[in-house]
Order: sequence, then structure tokens, then C-alpha cells
Amino acid sequence: MVHKTSQNNDERELALAAARERMVEQQLVGRGIRDPRVLEVMRQVPRHFFLGEFQMESAYEDEPLPIGEDQTISQPYMVALMSEQLHLEGGERVLEVGAGSGYQTAILARLAAAVFTVERIPSLAEKARMVWRTLGIANVRLRIGDGTLGWPEEAPFQAILVTAGAPNVPPPLVEQLDLGGRLVIPVGERFLQTLLCLIKRPDGSVERQESIGCRFVRLVGRHGWKTGEG
Ligand code: SAH
Repeated sequence: MVHKTSQNNDERELALAAARERMVEQQLVGRGIRDPRVLEVMRQVPRHFFLGEFQMESAYEDEPLPIGEDQTISQPYMVALMSEQLHLEGGERVLEVGAGSGYQTAILARLAAAVFTVERIPSLAEKARMVWRTLGIANVRLRIGDGTLGWPEEAPFQAILVTAGAPNVPPPLVEQLDLGGRLVIPVGERFLQTLLCLIKRPDGSVERQESIGCRFVRLVGRHGWKTGEG
């Protein structure tokens, strides 16, 4: 019986690894993700670890999925695109706002030197911490609180990623961005945002690039929306 169960588990893991490979080829390479480091970590990190047992079938589908508390794990393509736009080379200290399931955090942790992530919902933060531990990810620090205020004690950051939709760019995040650094954030209305990339030039001026339309759950906080609903 025990033997049978572990054999079934091995088979399931193999099937999930094959689904992950297809995800990378079809959803990422097929849509223009080119950064080889991003593609490599998306091949490695098991997205299904960050989901519930009942979600295994859809873990590598082309869509966001519910993670509880009315929040979602972002679509794989969105995780890859945002990671690529940060231009990480390996030595950066990264600030993430909205750890959620912790999947995007894990991807950043493999692409940079250290990740500082802020999550406002304690139960999600706890689950994310457990998965990072299981995967042996040790270069992440998590704080529970309002990420629109950034993490001033650890600033400056060479890259900042916001994984919830904001009405405007929170000024503390621009302040905490290092010279030469990149801030990627979805900004707009409740149901449609534009993915923005702000680049802080060496002289301190900020260049703004717009990419695709997207739809994220709300960024709720002092420099975000006042509530999650309505
Ligand atoms: N990157 C996550 C996305 C989770 S959804 C993943 O792939 O799983 C966005 C997350 O942002 C939610 O967990 C939500 O609770 C969190 N969030 C919203 N506003 C926040 C704020 N002001 N500070 C920190 N976290 C916030």
C-alpha cells in the first residue's frame, strides 16, 4: 500500500514536471519571454507547491488561481514578464509588495541576492513561509504590514515589484528605489491596470515605460486603495 502510494506520487510529480515544461514553452517562450535566467527558474520552481491539493490539475494552466482570502496567485506569464522587466542579474536586493502565495517571491529569490517582501494578510504569509522552507529558499525576509510604505530600514533596493493593482505609484517606493533601479507595478482602475516600469536614472530622474494591460487584486494601504472591495 505504502509502496503504491509513493509510486503514485512519483508519477504525479513527473506529470506535473512535464506540465511545467509545457507551460514554459507555450505560455512564456511562445509569447516572447527571452531572459534565459527567468526561463530557467520558471522551469525549476514547482508552482504546484504554492497551491492547494485540489488545484494540482490546474497548477500550470494559463491563468491566475485563487489562494484564499479573496487573493490570487498571478498567471505564470505575468510572473515571468514582471520578473523579466526587473532586469535582474543576481546581485540585487529586491523589495516585493504582496507575497500572496509566495510563488513570485520564490522566483525573485532565485534571480537576485535577497528578497524583502511585505504581505498584509498574516495567514497567507504563514503558508508562504512554510513553502519557502520546504524548497530550501533562505534569502527571503517577510514582514506583515502595509507594503505601500516600502521597507525603509532596508532601502535602497535595486528592484521593486508590486504584485497588486495600485491607483497610483506609492511615493515611498520611488524614494526607496536605488539609482539605476527598476520598479514594476500595475497602475489603474479596479478592473484594468497598465503594467508600468519606472527606471530611476543615475541623475535621480525617473523614466516611465508602459507595457500591457492587466488585472490584479487591489493594493490596499496608505498609498493604495482604502479597501479591498467596492
Ligand atoms: N505575487 C503573489 C500575488 C498575490 S495577490 C502570488 O503570485 O501569489 C496580491 C497580494 O498583495 C495579496 O496577497 C494581498 O494580500 C497583497 N497586498 C495587497 N495590498 C498590500 C499592501 N498594501 N501591502 C502588502 N501586501 C498587500
